[in-house]
Amino acid sequence: MSSFSDLAVSLQKGYACAERDHQQELLNTLTANSGFQNLLRTNQLAKTILGLTDSMNAYNNPEWQEQAIEIIIASDVYSGVERREREQKEGKGDQNLGYTDFLVLELLHWFRHKFFKWVNKPDCDRCGNADQDQIEPAGNAPPATREEIQGRAAGVEIYKCKKCQEQIRFPRLNNPSSLLKSRRGRCGEWNNCFLLLLKSLDIKCRSVWNSEDHVWSEFYSESLQRWVHLDSCEDAFDNPHLYNRGWAKKMSYVFGFGEDYAIDLSEKYICKDLDRALPRNKIDESSLSTVFRYVNAKRWASETDDTGLYKKLVQYNLEINALTRTSSANSFAKNQEKSQTEMKPRESGSAEWTKNRGEDGR
Ligand SMILES: [Zn+2]
Repeated sequence: MSSFSDLAVSLQKGYACAERDHQQELLNTLTANSGFQNLLRTNQLAKTILGLTDSMNAYNNPEWQEQAIEIIIASDVYSGVERREREQKEGKGDQNLGYTDFLVLELLHWFRHKFFKWVNKPDCDRCGNADQDQIEPAGNAPPATREEIQGRAAGVEIYKCKKCQEQIRFPRLNNPSSLLKSRRGRCGEWNNCFLLLLKSLDIKCRSVWNSEDHVWSEFYSESLQRWVHLDSCEDAFDNPHLYNRGWAKKMSYVFGFGEDYAIDLSEKYICKDLDRALPRNKIDESSLSTVFRYVNAKRWASETDDTGLYKKLVQYNLEINALTRTSSANSFAKNQEKSQTEMKPRESGSAEWTKNRGEDGR
């Protein structure tokens, strides 16, 4: 037996070594190709992919993860997980789900309903005015306060309280550990903070970006053996057609950025049978796939662990194959379809805001 498993390991190592060389060659070729390098500098979508490819690195800070764990332990997440486990033993609920799925489900629910707050316009810090009609936008400003700078705010939205005339600052924080304290924002802040929570629990996860101004997450479910859609703003689990079907959101590109690779997930999230696919005209398809090959080659060529590289490549190929099957048969989509009650218009954000974004289900 041991000689057989030795053989398997040496085959894996051989495959990984050959593939590493292959990725390095590809990387050298693309680095030397001035046309391709020019595309990376000038095409907005290519620049976005380059900018987002390492986004998961932001969550590997042990201190931030510790802060996140403390908050989760103090919450009611684990008692919810125990309840789900008991119910499963009694034959209730989905028997295919495992402990980690329960943990993610409970985390989503707690995060959406008890932890994080959606902000259209911020409440007034001075007089406590929370009436959205009594708060008006008053432009933008660069980060200036200690909280804003430490929180790596990309910018600060300024509002004016019509009741007490106070100026209100709403910094769009990017530092996930700062978001554990501020506990508020729009989808970017929600997703950013939620990914830190997932990572702190050592759950394999990735960030998903949509070109029509939305972001969400996915985690890899060992019990389901696939990547599962998660939207922390909506308490949504495994509902990939929520946007296209539920919100009636029109979409063109959806990309996933994980620790092991970046991938085009448009086939998974955009339904073929609806008239809600926007044209993919921001880059030609062959260049787009080369951009993905380039960012992945960069990562894989520098991966020193043979077994680790082998696993990443196998998982990537499995996922690409599954997405191709989705594309040709669309049977995956039908199996995945949620009941009418779960396929609902957007909950997060004001009615006017969702309508303006074309996400109100109409
Ligand atoms: Zn006020």
